[in-house]
Amino acid sequence: DVESLFTRSDHYHNSYLIKPDPILESVQQNTKDKGIDYEIAVSPAQGKFLHLLLLSIRAKRVLEVGSLGGYSAIWMARALPDDGELVALELEPLHAQAIEENVAHADLSSKIKVIVGPAHQSMQSLHPAQPFDLVFIDADKQNNTNYFIEAKRLVRKGGVIIVDNVGRKGRLADPDNHEASVEGTRELLRYIKDDAEVEGTTIHTVGEKGFDGFLYAFRK
Ligand code: SAM
Repeated sequence: DVESLFTRSDHYHNSYLIKPDPILESVQQNTKDKGIDYEIAVSPAQGKFLHLLLLSIRAKRVLEVGSLGGYSAIWMARALPDDGELVALELEPLHAQAIEENVAHADLSSKIKVIVGPAHQSMQSLHPAQPFDLVFIDADKQNNTNYFIEAKRLVRKGGVIIVDNVGRKGRLADPDNHEASVEGTRELLRYIKDDAEVEGTTIHTVGEKGFDGFLYAFRK
């Protein structure tokens, strides 16, 4: 079927471009052992894409909204210089505990700061002296517009906001689908359409996580 075709193609490319990574493998295993749905993390190819993007823009500061077990956070923090920082916002205390353990195992505790609680409130409480270079939004999709508005406040001009899972197997374009998560991302698209402060585009993706997509927005 088409899903196994996506997975096979992803694995084929990864076999050339992504080295085996015992640390990230044990991060996923430890997350799984805690009973957390570790498979909803970004794929290795997507993690490396975020990593390379941060290197390309010479990012120093990253904000992640929704961190699960820290898989994407670790990919991203590895791209930061010694004085860089990734702030990870996570609602669930069990997930936050997994993040702390996994980040320590990856030797990144000095670069990753976890804030536990509802991300919208955590974002509103942030007033960093230095703005973020990139914000990665990957939490409850119902709140995507709220997160995006705060992300715009917190990211520098010329910075990037990426929103995960906007492809959703084409569900947004299905007029009969009214799932709250789908409606949340539709609302974000309507918001961006009329927003003069950003330009955005959706890059649909296929691979081992199925048919999905990243929304890439540039803060003007
Ligand atoms: N970015 C992670 C990765 O790729 O490794 C995956 C994140 S997972 C798809 C979504 C996460 O958002 C979950 O850990 C969930 O607990 C968290 N979350 C859900 N609602 C939230 C909220 N209101 N505030 C903060 N985090 C929330």
